[in-house]
Amino acid sequence: MTTPTVTTPVDTASETPTYDSLLASITDADGREILDPATGEVVGRVAFGSPEDVDRAVERVRAAQPAWAARPDSERIDLLLRAADAIEAAAESLAELLSREQGKPLNGPNARFEVGACAAWLRATAATPLPVETVVDDEETHAELHYRPVGVVGAIGPWNWPMMITIWQIAPALRMGNTVVVKPSEYTPLSVLALVEVINGVLPDDVLVAVPGEGEVGARLSSHAGVDKVMFTGSTRTGQAIIRSSADTVKRLTLELGGNDAGIVLPDVDPKAIVEGLFWGAFINTGQTCAALKRLYVHTDVYDDVCAALAEVAQAMPMGRGLDEQNVLGPLQNEAQYDIVARLVDAARESGAKILVGGNPDPEAPGYFYPATLVADVDDENPLVAEEQFGPALPIVRYTDVDDAVAMANRLDVGLGASVWSADRDAARAVAARLEAGTVWINSHGGVHPMIPFGGVKKSGYGLEFGAEGLKAVAVPQVING
Ligand code: NAD
Repeated sequence: MTTPTVTTPVDTASETPTYDSLLASITDADGREILDPATGEVVGRVAFGSPEDVDRAVERVRAAQPAWAARPDSERIDLLLRAADAIEAAAESLAELLSREQGKPLNGPNARFEVGACAAWLRATAATPLPVETVVDDEETHAELHYRPVGVVGAIGPWNWPMMITIWQIAPALRMGNTVVVKPSEYTPLSVLALVEVINGVLPDDVLVAVPGEGEVGARLSSHAGVDKVMFTGSTRTGQAIIRSSADTVKRLTLELGGNDAGIVLPDVDPKAIVEGLFWGAFINTGQTCAALKRLYVHTDVYDDVCAALAEVAQAMPMGRGLDEQNVLGPLQNEAQYDIVARLVDAARESGAKILVGGNPDPEAPGYFYPATLVADVDDENPLVAEEQFGPALPIVRYTDVDDAVAMANRLDVGLGASVWSADRDAARAVAARLEAGTVWINSHGGVHPMIPFGGVKKSGYGLEFGAEGLKAVAVPQVING
């Protein structure tokens, strides 16, 4: 594989879709209503597919796969770069649709950021080299490791970062010569259909096909004999179902599942210096992020100061409808998630924990808004700590001995990310090495980068995404010996 040297510029100006034209191209008048979680208004209507639609989609992409794989790598690279250009040209329309459907604000690390990340990830995936590896080269043997396309990839995604996660799944798959069937979350199909529509403006027919629908559509993809690999991001429970349903066909799987990331604050920190990082580590996308900081362990020496500084930041962050430019926090995406957050905060309050800010949603207000909530003096056994809240409510647990903090961080059966916060990098790295998580950040939490491998341990899943490791994950290794 080669690094791209030439980008073919595309004249997208004349064909840039408006919000209305983009929505019209993916909407079906008889389809299921998709509601704005901030207002309850109908955003659009989507014709949900059936398992038989999956069969037809798989047939189409299977037929297109050999020709796609036969193209030189440089051509696929060029098309990914043109897809990035097309996304950028449609960025405002895509961001508006994402904001309306998912709820996330246009500004802050939200809708515009997500659309920008889609273009950036496509470009980085196009630029990632994956050279043939010569593993033995002596007088008797010459052995090389090549990476061939796996064939047809099924991409099943969640509703929290619907566009970005779709790109994470499809960009490496396409680059490696696979064709793809995408199954978006039933909560956010419009965003993904719009993204696929824009990308398909530059791709050949039948290389990338989306089938919106319920879980049964994902289940058919993950058991289908014509699908060779499933990229899945979602809950651990669904990941387990996919493992079971993929067994008969021995599919390759990448599973990015739920997390309950711990952050450990060591006693030497300056609370004011870390507090913005802590806040956004926990509250990015209003807490609906797989690798968000979901339980914070703070040394007793700095506990009160960290809590006070965090409360100040949390109170200053505007929450509201995503299309209002000043907001940086939005609603929960759906009622079920709102109920989970409300239940966990209520349970913490009833147990005697202290609500520092938030915890008081307005039952009369429209939309699934739950205020940014900080819960102090909470026991490590409390459900708000032990269960994934996936929303804007952060429990803050006090500790005195760092060994106890490490034990508490490691006690759960998930391990996506973790973080350590300290003025002493070596001390932080020593604690990081003891944490059971796929990524440990130091003095930040949750940042991902297209060249840095990302994946979980324990029940947070297996397989790596991004960079050369991500390309290998959507390929099959082949040794040429001789
Ligand atoms: P979910 O598991 O409910 O749904 C994810 C997708 O799986 C949806 O498209 C759904 O329709 C589909 N699905 C449902 N049943 C299926 C089945 N039997 N077979 C195949 N597909 C099926 O997850 P969600 O509620 O959309 O997302 C939230 C969860 O995802 C959280 O736990 C979060 O931590 C996790 N998540 C993880 C990452 C990561 O990178 N590790 C990223 C985002 C979200």
